[in-house]
Amino acid sequence: MDKSIPKLDELYKEIILDHYRHPHGRVPLEKVDYHAEGMNPLCGDEVKLGLQLKDGKIEKVHIEGHGCSISVASGSMLAQILKGKDIQNAKQISQALKDMMHDKVNGAKDDIGDLEALEGVKRFPVRIKCALLPWTTFEEAIIGHDHIEIS
Ligand code: ZN
Repeated sequence: MDKSIPKLDELYKEIILDHYRHPHGRVPLEKVDYHAEGMNPLCGDEVKLGLQLKDGKIEKVHIEGHGCSISVASGSMLAQILKGKDIQNAKQISQALKDMMHDKVNGAKDDIGDLEALEGVKRFPVRIKCALLPWTTFEEAIIGHDHIEIS
């Protein structure tokens, strides 16, 4: 299985590798309000995600990913971007990413920060699942599912 990073634009590659090497969200939570684990058997990616809420907002995100650079980087971006967001807003960001990856929009209309770096991944359809795994896991966590396998 090829775990290497696909041929992306240099700038995007740098952003993804930076997240991969120094991922956000590795600090364990004091209290876990939502939790889910996701797997992408196609690539061997695994994500464990926990959310800690305060006053309806995501106060802290804990994410541990094992797998390819794309899935780990996407999880790190999730931890960075969703911190401080309310659930509704977090779902919108997740949807914006999915729309972008599935080509419904050209680039994202919302400000999705570093996530834009993942756009190049959509030229490699098999890797789209890697990019979306942490986000699908997040969506499943907030509706109360704790184990998911994407296919
Ligand atoms: Zn992967």
